[in-house]
Amino acid sequence: MGRGRGWCWNYFTGYPQPKLEVRPELEEKVQKIYELLPKLDCGACGYSGCYEMAIAIAEGRERPDACRVAGKKIAPLIEDILRGSPRRIEEEVDRIKVLERKIDSLEREIKELKRLIEDLRDRVVKS
Ligand code: SF4
Repeated sequence: MGRGRGWCWNYFTGYPQPKLEVRPELEEKVQKIYELLPKLDCGACGYSGCYEMAIAIAEGRERPDACRVAGKKIAPLIEDILRGSPRRIEEEVDRIKVLERKIDSLEREIKELKRLIEDLRDRVVKS
């Protein structure tokens, strides 16, 4: 299996996802494209996961905006990758990673708030 989780493939077929082959000369592009894809492995694009989509885009079998979730937002960056203008891409990847960390932090805060609300609700019910 590639780096995508492939849960969709497994869920619908009951079989492990087949090993995804990447041509050696495309490995770097595939990895960069994969970094930009949402990594939801939802299957809405018709592929078993985001990694398989990254391969298809890198090989030119799919358009840069083919992801049904984030297509238009990330398409310009993917076009940069396909054209080979790395600095802007790496800056954007870094920016996306910072945003992902912020989202993780917010999710932890939301969980903590939910826990506090549950505690308060329990206390109100018991009093
Ligand atoms: S539609 Fe996008 S998020 Fe869903 S599996 Fe395809 S590439 Fe991944």
